[in-house]
Formats: sequence, C-alpha cells, structure tokens
Amino acid sequence: MGEYNTIVYGAISMIEQPLYGKPREHCGVIGVYSPDKSIQVSRYAFDGLIALQHRGQESAGIYVQNGKGITGHKDMGLASTVFTKKILSTLYGNKAIGHVRYSTTADSNVENAQPKKFVSTLGSYAIAFNGTITNFLSLRSILEEKGHVFHTNSDTETVAHVLAANLLETDDYSQAIAKSMNDLKGSYSMVLLNEAGDLYAIRDPLGFKPLCIGRVNSMYMVASETAAIESLNGSVLEHVEPGQITRITDYGPVKETVVKANRHARCMFEFVYFSRTDSNFDGISIYKVRERLGRILSQIHPVDADIIVPVPDSGRTAAAGLAAESGIPLGEGLIKNRYVWRTFIMPVQAEREDQVKLKLNPVRELITGKDVVLVDDSIVRATTMKRIVCLIRNAGARKVHVRVSCPPIIAPCYMGIDFPTSRELIAANQTVEQIEKFIGADSLGYMTIDGLMQGIGLGEDELCMACLNKEYPIESVEADFLESYLGGAKGSEN
Ligand code: SF4
Repeated sequence: MGEYNTIVYGAISMIEQPLYGKPREHCGVIGVYSPDKSIQVSRYAFDGLIALQHRGQESAGIYVQNGKGITGHKDMGLASTVFTKKILSTLYGNKAIGHVRYSTTADSNVENAQPKKFVSTLGSYAIAFNGTITNFLSLRSILEEKGHVFHTNSDTETVAHVLAANLLETDDYSQAIAKSMNDLKGSYSMVLLNEAGDLYAIRDPLGFKPLCIGRVNSMYMVASETAAIESLNGSVLEHVEPGQITRITDYGPVKETVVKANRHARCMFEFVYFSRTDSNFDGISIYKVRERLGRILSQIHPVDADIIVPVPDSGRTAAAGLAAESGIPLGEGLIKNRYVWRTFIMPVQAEREDQVKLKLNPVRELITGKDVVLVDDSIVRATTMKRIVCLIRNAGARKVHVRVSCPPIIAPCYMGIDFPTSRELIAANQTVEQIEKFIGADSLGYMTIDGLMQGIGLGEDELCMACLNKEYPIESVEADFLESYLGGAKGSEN
C-alpha cells in the first residue's frame, strides 16, 4: 500500500507492506474476459492481483468460468503465496474474476475470502467486491425474515443475497443489479461473473472507489486501478462511472445502465494515499495530485530548513512537490527495510514501536546537524510519527518540522477504510498544538480541506471527505452499530 513510483528510483518497487499506523484499504478487484475461448485467463488475473496487492494482503482468490460452471481457488495470504503455478494451471477458463482482501467488516478467515460464489434461480455467480455496505445488517435481517440463510458475517454475502432476491423477479442480470443498487447503501466497486459467462463491472452511484476497464492483448480487463492494466502492457479504455453497470462482451464493454445520484463521493484518501502513485482515478493522475499537495503544503506552511525527508514510501511524492516549491533539497534520509513483513495483529504498543524501528533507519550523514522537514501523507494515531520524529532526532537533527499532505482525520470511515474509532484518532481528540507536542516536532503543518480540494481538482460535491469534516455522504450509515462493530472487531491496530 502507499507509494511505489518514487522520485529517486523512478520505477515501481516490489509490493511491500505499509508502516504501522497507516489506514488500510478494504480490497482490490480484477476481472478478465477473453473472447478467445482457448486463452486461459487465470494467470492474467493473478498478475492483476499482484499489481493490486497493496489494496489487501490478508487473502487472495481467483474464480473462473469455463462453460461448465464457476470454479476457483482462494486462501489466506498474499497472491504470490496463495497461487502456485500448479494451482493456476488447474483454473481453466477464458473469463475470471479475482480479489485481494483486507477485512474491515468481517472476520479475517478463509470463509470471508473472495471471490464468493452463490447459487441463484438463474444458476451460480461469483462476486469480488471492494467497499462496505453500511446498511448490510438491516438488509440481512429483512432477508433472514424471508428465509435467506447466511453462512458468514460479511457484507459481501448480503450483497449476493440482495441480488439473488432481485433475480427472482427478473431474469436480466443488469436489471437485478440496478434494483440491488437501490437497496445497497455504501461504497462498492465490484465485478460479477455468472455461469453464463457474463462479466459485469459495477460501481456505486456515489463512486467512492475507483474501477476501470482496459484492454490487454485481445482480452478485456476490469481493475480497481489503472496501474493493474498498464502493468500488464494494456491500455485503459474507460473509467466505470459512478452508478454504472457495464457488461463485458466479445466486442468490448457495453454500458448497460447508470443509476444516478445527486452528487459523487470519490474517497479523497485514494488520491492522498491508497491508490498507487502510477494509477489515475477517474482520469486524475494520482502522482500529479500528490505532487500538487506537496507544493500547496509548502505555500500554507513555509519553513526554513536544510533538507526535506519523505517518510518512505507514502510521503515521497508530496515531499518532491514540497521540495520543488520551497527550493529546499530533497534527501532520502530514512531508509525502509522492505523485508520486514508485518504480522496482522500487533496489539501491544511496544511491539509496534519496535516494528517501526526495524522498518526505518535514518541516514545520519544526511540528517546530523540539519533542520529537517519530515513529510508524510497522513497521521492517524500519531504513535508512528512520534517514533519517526524520535529516530530523526536521535540521528542528530537540529530541528524536526513535520508536514502532512492530508488534513487532520477527525472521524472514522464507514465506507471500507480501516480507520479506528474516534477515540483512537488523535486529531479527533487533540489540537494541532497538542499533537505537535505529542510527536515531539518543532512544528507541525497539516494540509487544509480547501488545499486538498485544490490539489485534487474536485469540489466537495465530488469527493467524500467525511473523515475530515464528518459530512457523511450516505444517509443510512448505521453509525453506532458499525462503530462498535469495527471497534470491537478490527480496531486494535496502530
Ligand atoms: S470517510 Fe475518509 S477514508 Fe472513508 S471513504 Fe470518505 S474520504 Fe475515504
């Protein structure tokens, strides 16, 4: 997760784990459709998942359709460990969907791994889903009363049951999906593959998550991010619009329908942190946004310093913008050990701090005796930033100024991002001055909400910024329940 296309190395580095203290994206999805039945697409789906691994590292799965039905394989772990050459060779089929997962609303186990396969009146189908359904508990209760039986606690299963219920009323998948979109509240970008071999790309009407369609050789590919298509030497054909249902056919993508909303709510965090720097979201370059945010930060919070040091890898592009705007040299003053892999649960604070130390090491030659500007994309609990400031000071820095390219995060996310509950978000409970003191910085400067919109180039009716301003774009967030649910189930990290 985080940034891959670095200024210094100018290339995509290996998939790596985020630092502790970083929020995590829910999932990444892939769909591959080959009109040529002789092409086995599972290896393309696998390569696509590798490109999206930053969006989820807990489990991975690929399901294929081969004329005889839908079959697949999924397990806990990174895509590279879940799929061996041998396993991929057993996944015959010219159409596939794939998924990498990080859980936010359900237990982390293989039952909740995706894609998920379901049986309806029209035969079986599988879905791979990125997002969170904020009303899934009430929808589930309604469906249970009607006799639906649930086997997991995931919102994805609820999505499938809603669709199955709507398929009872029509034999047209697009109509049933459109009807389901009226029932489902929340954020979702998903792919659906049915027994008949139809592949659908679906994005919620508010458009929280990215989803795009491209061409790779003679195949069509649906992906959470453009970088997945381009890294397979493909070209992006279109971004799935908010509310759009697209069916992939032998002749290309066909827009079936668009469920309109009176605003859009692209997750601002995709621009700031989640998406790969080499992706673009609805036609907006992630790299350019991050670079602009760095320049804006420099204008809002000018500082006299000797060197700008990015927190690798998430602060790199903003740091480059800040350096370009301020004229202060940029230096790789923190080196990340790319081979320290995190465990999934590290509840003890001391353990987390040790992990930060293991993962980052300062370059004393660049830092000793200098006034340093440390740049990162966001601060959540601030314990990681406190540790990093301490590392820089211990390496001999005279002063440490911290600049953050995301405004203060003051509220939890109910739309699929693993933000902790409000009580764990430092900016929800402390002023900037208090946070500055807590992390031990000589100065702390956050991006403003206006600066963020300027950097992204979209207004408030085009973005979700609920974690910054508490203006949730979804009416029926079952907030109290979800907060306690997320807090109890997932809220112990970082
Ligand atoms: S609340 Fe924040 S993290 Fe969640 S979808 Fe909105 S902008 Fe993204």
